[in-house]
Formats: sequence, C-alpha cells, structure tokens
Amino acid sequence: MNNRIIPIVLRITRCYLIRGDNLILIDGGMPNKGDVFRKALSKLSIDPREIKLIVITHGHWDHIGSVRDIRELTGARTAIHELDRGCLEKGKERRAPGVTRCGRFMTGMIGSFSGRIRIPITDADITLGDEFQLAQFGIDGSIIHTPGHTLGSVSVLLETGEAFVGDLAMNMFPLTVRPGLPIFAEDLQKVKESWKMLLNRGAKTVYPAHGKPFGVGRHLRHLQKKGG
Ligand SMILES: [Zn+2]
Ligand SMILES: [Zn+2]
Repeated sequence: MNNRIIPIVLRITRCYLIRGDNLILIDGGMPNKGDVFRKALSKLSIDPREIKLIVITHGHWDHIGSVRDIRELTGARTAIHELDRGCLEKGKERRAPGVTRCGRFMTGMIGSFSGRIRIPITDADITLGDEFQLAQFGIDGSIIHTPGHTLGSVSVLLETGEAFVGDLAMNMFPLTVRPGLPIFAEDLQKVKESWKMLLNRGAKTVYPAHGKPFGVGRHLRHLQKKGG
C-alpha cells in the first residue's frame, strides 16, 4: 500500500484517506467513532482541516454513523448519492436484504439490533449523480455511481486503478470467507453490472469497507467476461 492511501479502521468499518493536493475521506464509520477518528488523525500527524471532502459510499449505519462528528471536526464537505441522501439527512435506514445463505442469516441478526441504532443526521453538501470528478480536490479520479448494494452506492475510482467500493465487495470473515461480492444487496444484478463497469474502466485493486484490500484477479474478473 502506498502512502497516498491511508486506512483508518473504525471498528467494523475500514475508512480510507486519499492524499492528493488535499485529503479526502471515504466513509464515516459507525456511530460514536468521532473520537477514535480524531485520535487516529493525531497519531498520523494529520491536521483534521486538511480533509476537504467526505465521500459516503452509501447510506448504511456503519458508513454514515460518525459523519456528523467528522464533518464538524474537519469542516469537510459531505458527498452522497441522491438515492441514499435521505439516510444521511433524515437518519432513514434502508436495509439491503441478504443475497447469500450467510447474508440472509446475518440480516436476521443485524435486523434485530440495527433498529435501535441512532444515527446522528447531518447535511449532504454535494449530491452525487452518475459521476463526479475529483480534480478540484487535486485527485486524479472520480466518484462513480455503482448501484447494487444500495441503489445509491458510489465508488471512488482512481486513474491508477484503485477502487474504493464501500460494500460493493466484501473481504471480512464471517461476512465472507474469500474476497468477493457483497452478501447483502438491494439489487444483485446491478451489483454485477456495476462491477463489470468498474473492471472495464480499469479497476485493479479493491479497497472494501469491510476487510483488507485485494486485487480483482480471479475474485471478480469473471464478472467482466459474463455477457461480453
Ligand atoms: Zn452496506
Ligand atoms: Zn457496511
């Protein structure tokens, strides 16, 4: 991993800082992790004000939970897709159903406690559509709408092939035993179409929100071939 990409693990969610001319942050973790985030920055000798943008890959509780705290700490703008915007601004949680046996089992488990989670709401400063260029933040890459896990999921794809995909892929036991597609999805067909698009656009290394980065290799490459 190069020093442009800095993971910050907020318990179950792996957030990433990307350094260009400015820093941008991908995802805001579960609730009540603002302090952990602040301490992680201090350990890295990063001034919170260097972070100019918080890209929220989708509106699930474990990605938006500490966004309000991080926004207040950094003064960064928030960006979320219009279809998931209500989750951030109104605290509305839309669940993605399990699409594997494990996913269905976990949905039942998570469902029983996630209804009790209180998500601090905050504003979306930038509402994302199909694509948003990151050049204004000094980063060669863009935020692309990659629906499937949720309908408003987005990924950050750098020109060098690093893809920050939120939950469009997973690599964390017990969610998955090997890197691959998410076990929860609002639309599994759209997950596959989004992957095909990312691969066609040059995604090489996947940075998931749950688990360590991995190369697309045999784990996802087959999706590119299906259906031409
Ligand atoms: Zn999710
Ligand atoms: Zn997640």
